[in-house]
Amino acid sequence: MSVTEAQVLECLRGIVDPGLGKDIVSGQLLTGLVIRDDHVMFAIETDPSRAPEMEVLRDQAEQAVKKLPGVSKVTAVLTAAKEPEPEPHSCGGGHNHGKQAHGYDPSPEVPLMPGVKNIIAVASGKGGVGKSTTSVNLALALQGLGLKVGLFDADIYGPSVPKMLDIHDSPETEDGKTMLPLEKHGLKCMSIGFLMDEDTPVIWRGPMVMGALQQLMRDVQWGELDVMIVDMPPGTGDTQLTMCQSVPLAGAVIVSTPQDIALLDARRGLNMFRKVDVPVLGLIENMSYYHCPNCGHEDHIFGHGGAKAEAVKMSCDFLGEIPLDGTIRHLSDAGTPIVIAQPDSPHAAAYRAIAAKIWDKVKLLHA
Ligand code: ADP
Repeated sequence: MSVTEAQVLECLRGIVDPGLGKDIVSGQLLTGLVIRDDHVMFAIETDPSRAPEMEVLRDQAEQAVKKLPGVSKVTAVLTAAKEPEPEPHSCGGGHNHGKQAHGYDPSPEVPLMPGVKNIIAVASGKGGVGKSTTSVNLALALQGLGLKVGLFDADIYGPSVPKMLDIHDSPETEDGKTMLPLEKHGLKCMSIGFLMDEDTPVIWRGPMVMGALQQLMRDVQWGELDVMIVDMPPGTGDTQLTMCQSVPLAGAVIVSTPQDIALLDARRGLNMFRKVDVPVLGLIENMSYYHCPNCGHEDHIFGHGGAKAEAVKMSCDFLGEIPLDGTIRHLSDAGTPIVIAQPDSPHAAAYRAIAAKIWDKVKLLHA
């Protein structure tokens, strides 16, 4: 016989949120309770700033319900608390001042990363084109130019930096209010992935994403940095606009694979940055060609040169191409990016050449 809703609720009344001083049922944190035979699913609403402590509560709730007779599977997720929808964002047409839900301040008066001289967004129109791989390698290549570099993983939904840099620690705090960034290969890094279990899904609602992003920037002791590379989530949604509105971006770099469908999305990304007056530093073609290590033949799996042609069409610079290469993938996924692991390889040289171009362009903008 399957468990009843009353039994599950009774069980969850035993899970107390110490911050609220109430159990999650009477505190009205429990939503979306669904029972399908022996599978119980529910969500616990939380403020993203409390996500790490609420993760403990989520786990307790899951374990408790799992012990009920007739239950063999429990799916409990954290979800951002319900908030009024934010005002629509204005693109390029003046910022909307005044605080909104969860501390999201569309254009904060106090800079979020005061010691960071140049913030560069690495973006793509769609996922899977190698934007994070490019971000990490470019950050390391910029560091190779003698710059102090940070890496901010702005992908709240699917953070990649912990895996790509093989970081499993959580940030420490000295004052109980701010976090110290984690350091790897000399890069100062921050990612929501450092604060959460990678397998735990967190469902973010729009305004919470913005609040969480700003908090991750504001509450981290970045110190003085020449460049911050921001690994943006794919697409042209709320996160991208939040970044554009919250920090003065020195510029954006767009990563695309050569095929038309990816380029279409890249064009959208490019137009979005232009709309909000962020200089587009250029386009990078990733997975540009495949050079067979056995026979030396060069194959163009996704076509070749599409991004270069697109750059011309969109009147923006083409920064360079990175081949589709098993070593890039394997090293990136193993947490040892090629710029560090194989600095003498032609691929590391390609990333360095692109990084040098980007830095020249940033200097030019300042001039
Ligand atoms: P995105 O950030 O656009 O979603 P990722 O950087 O996570 O993309 O890359 C997706 C996958 O493609 C990863 O497994 C990564 O190792 C691989 N990858 C990225 N760039 C290359 C490349 N130039 N050659 C081979 N594999 C690549």
